Amino acid sequence: MTENTTRKRKSDRSVRNIKQPSEKQRILAKKSVRDHFAIIAVALIATLLAYVYRTYFAIQDIPLVREAFEVRNLLGKGKGIVALRNIQRGELLLKEKPLFVVPSAISHTSPGALILSSLARLTHSQRQSFYNLSYVHLPENLEPDTPQYNDELALAIFQTNAVSAGSDGVGIFPRMARLNHGCSKAFNVVYSWRENERAIVVHALKDIKQGQELLTTYTDTKRPRSERRQLLEAHYGFTCQCSVCSLLEAESRKSDERLSKMATLYSQFKSWAEGAITGREAIDIVNKIWQVGEEEGYHSERGQLAADAVYIAASHSDGDAVRAWAQLSHQWYSLELGLDSEQAQAMAGLRQHPEQHGRWGAHRPELVGGPILVQ
Ligand SMILES: [Zn+2]
Repeated sequence: MTENTTRKRKSDRSVRNIKQPSEKQRILAKKSVRDHFAIIAVALIATLLAYVYRTYFAIQDIPLVREAFEVRNLLGKGKGIVALRNIQRGELLLKEKPLFVVPSAISHTSPGALILSSLARLTHSQRQSFYNLSYVHLPENLEPDTPQYNDELALAIFQTNAVSAGSDGVGIFPRMARLNHGCSKAFNVVYSWRENERAIVVHALKDIKQGQELLTTYTDTKRPRSERRQLLEAHYGFTCQCSVCSLLEAESRKSDERLSKMATLYSQFKSWAEGAITGREAIDIVNKIWQVGEEEGYHSERGQLAADAVYIAASHSDGDAVRAWAQLSHQWYSLELGLDSEQAQAMAGLRQHPEQHGRWGAHRPELVGGPILVQ
């Protein structure tokens, strides 16, 4: 059989089939038309259902999908973040991956150049979100658009906005960076780095009303107003006007006394590690810090404070005290860092098994006592 013959035969069969479709092909053709209509019908029903859903149910979705906050221009403060609805204490408000991270200790001869090289790897809009951030301490008398200016500008923005990204170094988080600062009881959100997710999370530390500004804290504010203002001025270039810094003189003095007392108590507490005080005395100090914090309205760091008390109680093999402090620490870590945070989970475990603490029995046995003022 030659090749030509084969082609001809195929061709013949093809012509014959077109003119005279087989019974099987006729059935298949009908089935194809039916399938086609079935597909159209399904598509129409899906469109109708989508319309009904959008019309009747979408409105009910709004509270669930509505953003909790937005960035706004605030009088005399530049940009800031404002609550778009009432926010509950403990709510997760933001989870953000860093735009880029650089090592904590920059040994690079030109840190600005290192930041510029990180920026070069980003998309245009990502770079834009970096350059939209505020900055302080840009040297004066630099010619714009020169390599030196670009270096210094990148460095100034980085130094003003970068926060710890755990073992990765320090990073830029453009959304979180819009949070302004408040001292003592004025701040209402806290941010923390999640090592396992390589992201920063922001939780509401207090209930926040719609229209209220979301404030975090840039530094340890357990110090008098004059010191706080000096420090914030030097590092961030602004004079703090938060509600605590704006207190009238007499009230401000009382607040300063409470904050200074908390700082003093914290340093006394640390002396337990050197054997200067007993476990019982250390726990008494924790209770005092808690009480003064309550009077001041300073609620931050409570998860850590109660976890420190767990450490003391476990070291002295006081199981009941470990359980009680772990319960309190779990409660506050859940608010500050999230119920699913490593810290909250660890405390949940210790509530059940105090002896599993890594420091269990490291010091002589002692009944150190549990929390007195539980909030
Ligand atoms: Zn302030």
